[in-house]
Amino acid sequence: MISRADVDKLLGVRAAGPSVLSLYLWVPADPAELRGLPARAGELFTLAARDGPGAPGVAGVPEEDRRAVRAMLASRARDWLGHTVAVFTCAGLGLAEAVPLPCRLQERAVLATRPHVRPLLAAIGRCPAYRVVVADRRHAWLFAVTGDQVATTALPDAAGVRSHGFSGWYGLQAYRVDQRIIQLARHHYHDTAALLEHAARAGGPQPLVIGGHQDTIAQFLAVLPAGLRGQFAGSFAADPDTLTPARVRELAGPVIEDWVSRRGQHLAAQIGQHPSGELTATGLAACLAAAGQHAIGLLLVPAGGLVPGYACQHCGALSSTPGGGCPHGAAAALAVPDLIEEIAVATLGDGGQVETLRDPPAGIAARLRFPLAQP
Ligand SMILES: [Zn+2]
Repeated sequence: MISRADVDKLLGVRAAGPSVLSLYLWVPADPAELRGLPARAGELFTLAARDGPGAPGVAGVPEEDRRAVRAMLASRARDWLGHTVAVFTCAGLGLAEAVPLPCRLQERAVLATRPHVRPLLAAIGRCPAYRVVVADRRHAWLFAVTGDQVATTALPDAAGVRSHGFSGWYGLQAYRVDQRIIQLARHHYHDTAALLEHAARAGGPQPLVIGGHQDTIAQFLAVLPAGLRGQFAGSFAADPDTLTPARVRELAGPVIEDWVSRRGQHLAAQIGQHPSGELTATGLAACLAAAGQHAIGLLLVPAGGLVPGYACQHCGALSSTPGGGCPHGAAAALAVPDLIEEIAVATLGDGGQVETLRDPPAGIAARLRFPLAQP
């Protein structure tokens, strides 16, 4: 599946002209429907040729790229059933890569001087890789969920905790035993948290879901160090004895969806709080200006829609009219298929953060690192 490192690698690809094809294609879950796939790709190629305000030299998707895509679909589509696949080809650069994505995205084909990555960023944000810890008093399991893949690690057993037979005792004796179990369990939660911290350090921060009995969730949460607590996305109640990795993913999925949605609202609110503030840019024109001054710290973009525009070949200024963004004029303006993509890539290049929301304020909005200089 896709990661930010993959996006950065793709952003390093650059052609002299608009000869890099990016194709986002839904592969049906039913193998019987695969026959229609090359025709669907062909339809998207036709639309791609029309994208952009008629950049000279863009005559459509070259036959070599069409052939490369058809060959990839013929040999690999069966591995991608039920997924949107991102395909990048450029015959001149020897580029031919395909990545299945963890969630369904709008189909599109884009011809540009580099790979079109906005849908990849949307996929990473909307269907993130995440971790699930399921713990009871004796055991803990760590699940790493990436798309529909679930990797399982059983963490070491809590040492010294006796079998459930003890809980049948009565009175003070039973109370003492329970106390002992609780203390040992707490010890085991600490150990589990330490192992989880290790995983987070090795693999980077990811949203964390905790599953198990209500009381063990609360006890485990209580011992989580601050860093991991910040990654906590939510929990689900389940009997660990009955769980399978597939069931864990089923139960954790909605928890992650809620978390993604809450996070989107939180990000939008950060900008909504200062709608006319000097550290906010709302709407395309304001975001183009902010990108030109390398001022964007956080950019909120929609998942869909391509907004054709222009980039200056000399200074890189972005604009919705030819030559509108700088003094170099229309002669230096090069058509680009999507200004939102250009702003997003500029933001990443400046070390900013790009997040895809269902409905960002004013269609596109940014939080700025410093106030814009007035032209
Ligand atoms: Zn310029």
